[in-house]
Amino acid sequence: MTSSQSCPCGSKKKFNQCCDLLIKGDSVAETAEQMMRSRYSSFVVKNMDYIRETTDPQTRLDYDFEANRKWAEDSEFQGLEVIKVSSEGNKATVEFKATFKSLSEDKTHIHHEISKFRKQGGLWYFRDGKVLSEA
Ligand SMILES: [Zn+2]
Repeated sequence: MTSSQSCPCGSKKKFNQCCDLLIKGDSVAETAEQMMRSRYSSFVVKNMDYIRETTDPQTRLDYDFEANRKWAEDSEFQGLEVIKVSSEGNKATVEFKATFKSLSEDKTHIHHEISKFRKQGGLWYFRDGKVLSEA
């Protein structure tokens, strides 16, 4: 992954003009969708610190970062599709499908989830997610 490649989140922008700005802390997500996209890209580049930092401090303790790190290391991410975004005030949900290949299983999966986000102090945080299906 180099900075001049297309952003893995599927925005059609270059990585260094899209999610990388958020991951590096040069910019902040203005919407929950941007936050969701940057977290996906963060999994792609395996930056688990960003995943931790952007998880709601209120739910951070419940989140198994080590399991996520192992999953990210065993996955080759193939694409993100944002299906639906709804937001009201400081709360938002983003429904998405992420396609990834499990390297240990040599099998492609589609992860379908509705993620909840919360804005606090001007920053969007991932709160929790409901997995709809994983095939
Ligand atoms: Zn992006």
